[in-house]
Amino acid sequence: MKVSLIQLGCPKNIVDGEWALGRILSKGHILTSYENADAVFINTCGFIEAAKRESIEVILNCIEDKKSGKIKKIYVFGCLSERYLKELKKEFPEVDGFFPLSVLPEAEEMLSEKKKTFRKKGQIIVPDFYYKRKRLTPNHYSYVKIGDGCSHNCSFCAIPIIRGKAVSRNREGILGELKKLCEEGVKEGILISQDLTAYGRERGDSILNLLRLIEESKTPEWIRLLYLYPTSITKEFVSIVKNSKKIVHYFDIPFQHASQRVLKSMKRGGAYSSYIKIIENIRKEIPDAAIRSSFIVGFPAEKREDFNELKRFLLEASIDHAGFFAYSKEEGTEAFSLKDEVSQEEKNERIMELASIQEKIVKEKNRQKIGRKYKVLIDGFSEETDLLLQGRTYFQSPDIDGVTLINKGECKVGEFFNIKITRVIGYDILGEVAYD
Ligand code: SF4
Repeated sequence: MKVSLIQLGCPKNIVDGEWALGRILSKGHILTSYENADAVFINTCGFIEAAKRESIEVILNCIEDKKSGKIKKIYVFGCLSERYLKELKKEFPEVDGFFPLSVLPEAEEMLSEKKKTFRKKGQIIVPDFYYKRKRLTPNHYSYVKIGDGCSHNCSFCAIPIIRGKAVSRNREGILGELKKLCEEGVKEGILISQDLTAYGRERGDSILNLLRLIEESKTPEWIRLLYLYPTSITKEFVSIVKNSKKIVHYFDIPFQHASQRVLKSMKRGGAYSSYIKIIENIRKEIPDAAIRSSFIVGFPAEKREDFNELKRFLLEASIDHAGFFAYSKEEGTEAFSLKDEVSQEEKNERIMELASIQEKIVKEKNRQKIGRKYKVLIDGFSEETDLLLQGRTYFQSPDIDGVTLINKGECKVGEFFNIKITRVIGYDILGEVAYD
């Protein structure tokens, strides 16, 4: 059968989609574009309102195309089907199969007529070896999921409801996969989980042990770490990154807020002052470290003074990359019952205020890079124009940060080149190949 995958959601969901696709194709089905597909798989996201709406819109569009005979079969999996399996089955009888995350191991059976729905979720499954996955990222970089689920209880977050408690892969599976990716020409391995720093905790292992092993093993040249829980970034963790020849000097630390009152209500560890200490320690040990973070705006009872504290934090912390999200009230989470909601309009205004502060910070940091040379992994032609190539330095993660555009000199996609920065273009930087 000719199959196509519509992939939604975060990098962790991308790996699930790659894995499901790999297993389906291993049964002889052929991957094709949506237009030519007989069966369409939708890997949904069910994290927050906006993402849920996007997933449902995609399902509805596919149902329309099925009604008009363009496609024959629709299969839905991923976080939305995990969270709302019963409701979705009732709402969309036109869909040929809904599958919770925990059945991904049997993905290839999705196409078998016998089964329309699999059993409801158990504990999330994190296979030790993703050897069959059909990677969806460009060949030179790949996400590597080292665990899933989460044992924190942030009051706004639906992840523990969707993916269960934290489960870690065993080291052998992770190291084996990094070795295989390196042999496949992958230059950048991006380690992901819900909270990377929680790796191995449920079985007496630790992220520190894993990173030390990775340092001694055959892996892609660059190792990037995403989703670091703030209070788990110890001095030892920072020194491992500092002394590593592989781990790039990039710290993705979702602080979520800075007001003590809001952090307490969010059930997030840490505080304004301890977050600043974490950032100062990282910058003292690794002066060229880049820090990414994300913040939730408009959490119930976020008063103006709380928001002002967050603005002050942003100015003081001077973070390299930051994302701002409006609080989304999610049923099943502890915060769902909290009153005193901030209006959507007010949330949008507050996000604009933060974004304009952050824009100035990013542009000033980019200006300081003019004249310097950086090692850049070439990703391909710019999304804006074929006249420019684009790539990323160690301080630019795929799809979430600015990029490095190249307008002079020869480069090869998937390879590293030294680029001298000549100009700032908004959140991006522009440069030319440095031959000296
Ligand atoms: S650490 Fe992240 S994934 Fe876990 S509950 Fe908190 S916000 Fe959700």
